[in-house]
Amino acid sequence: MTDFLNEAKQLFSYTQSLRRDLHMHPELGFKEVRTGGIVARELESLGIEVTKGVGKTGVVGLLEGEKPGPTLLLRFDMDALPIAEQTGADYASQNQGVMHACGHDGHTAIGLTVAKILNARRDQLAGTIKFCFQPSEEGNNGEEVGGAEMMMRDGVLEGPKVDMSLALHLWNEKPLGWVGVTQGPIMAGAEIFTVKITGRGGHGAIPDAAVDPVIAAANIVNSLQSIVSRNVPPLETAVLSVTNIHGGTAFNIIPQEVMLEGTIRTFDRGVRQKVVERFEQIARGVGEGMGCQIEVNIKRLTPALVNNALMTAKVQETARRVLPESNLDSEYQTMTAEDMAFMQEKVPACYFFIGSNDKSRHLDYGHHHPKFDFDEEALVRGSALMAAAAMDVLGEGPAK
Ligand SMILES: [Zn+2]
Ligand SMILES: [Zn+2]
Repeated sequence: MTDFLNEAKQLFSYTQSLRRDLHMHPELGFKEVRTGGIVARELESLGIEVTKGVGKTGVVGLLEGEKPGPTLLLRFDMDALPIAEQTGADYASQNQGVMHACGHDGHTAIGLTVAKILNARRDQLAGTIKFCFQPSEEGNNGEEVGGAEMMMRDGVLEGPKVDMSLALHLWNEKPLGWVGVTQGPIMAGAEIFTVKITGRGGHGAIPDAAVDPVIAAANIVNSLQSIVSRNVPPLETAVLSVTNIHGGTAFNIIPQEVMLEGTIRTFDRGVRQKVVERFEQIARGVGEGMGCQIEVNIKRLTPALVNNALMTAKVQETARRVLPESNLDSEYQTMTAEDMAFMQEKVPACYFFIGSNDKSRHLDYGHHHPKFDFDEEALVRGSALMAAAAMDVLGEGPAK
C-alpha cells in the first residue's frame, strides 16, 4: 500500500518553502496575481493542463488519470486578509497591512504538494482531478460575489462536469494531531447585516434639542442579544455579533447618524428565518422608539456547509488508515462560514479540518489574529490526507 504520509514528509521542504514564500507575499481577494502565477507555474511544471482567469484570479489544473472514472474537484483557497502581521516570524508578510492570517498560504502549498503526489500516480488514478485554486474566500472584496461563486459563474463545475469534491482547512482551534471529519452541516450559514440609525445631530450639551442615534445604537446592540437567548430554541444554534459601530466626530457633537454592522450565523433554515425576522423587528422597534429612523439591511453571504454522508464516511476511513496516530473527531462543527458551501450545494463533497496549533511554541492564536501562525507539520498531514482521500474517493466512483 502506498504510504501517503511518508511521501508528504519527503515533500515537506517543498511544501514549507512554498508556504513561506506565499506568506511573505500575501494578496487580498481577487488580487492573487503573484500567487496564481506560482500555482500555474508549479502545475505546468508537472505537465498538468492549466486554465488561468477562472473567477478573475482563480487557477484550474486538470489531471487526467490513465483509468476512466469520475471527476473530482479539489479546492484550495489562496487569499489573504487586510491585517497588519505581528508574528515577528522571519517569513512575515512583506506586503504592509496584508497578512495570511487564516492559513490559506498553507492550503495553496498543500494543493501544489497534492498535485505532485497525485501526478506521480497518474497510472493508478481512476478518473480526473480538477485542482481548483480559488480566490477571495474571505469575502467579495468589492465584487458582486466571492471567489467560489465567481469560479462557478466561469464554469468551474463544468467541462468536465464535476461529480464530487474535497476541501480542507488548517484549524488552529485544535492541536496538531487532531483531524475533524464530520457528516452533515459542519459550518454555519452566514449573513452580513447593517443598521443605519438616523437621528438629528446637535450640541452634546443640549441633547433635548437633538435626537441621539448613539443611545439608540447602544440599546439596539443590547436588545439584539435577546434574540439568541430568548427567540432561538435552546437546543438549536445561532450566533449574532455586532462587530462594527461607526458614528460621531467630536466629544461635543451629537452625530446625525450611527452605523452598525455584524454577522448572523445559523445551521438551520428555520432558525435563520426566525433570527432575521426578530432582528428587523427589534432594530426598528427600539430605534424608532427612541425617535430615530432605522434602515436594516441583511444580506446572505453563504449557506451552511454540508458534508455528504457517504463521502464523509470514506474520508474518515482514509484518515484512520493514513493518519493512524491522529485523533479523529467525527462530531466537530463550527459557526464560522465558508464559501465552499456554494459548490457543496451542487456536488456531493467532504470538507475536513486539520488541527494545526502548537501551544508550546505559541502557535495557537486564532484565525484572523495578527499573530496567527500554525505548526507547519500540519501541512504534511493535510497533504497526505487530501492526496489519499482523492485516490480513495475516485476509486469508489461518485458518491450517491
Ligand atoms: Zn478566514
Ligand atoms: Zn480560511
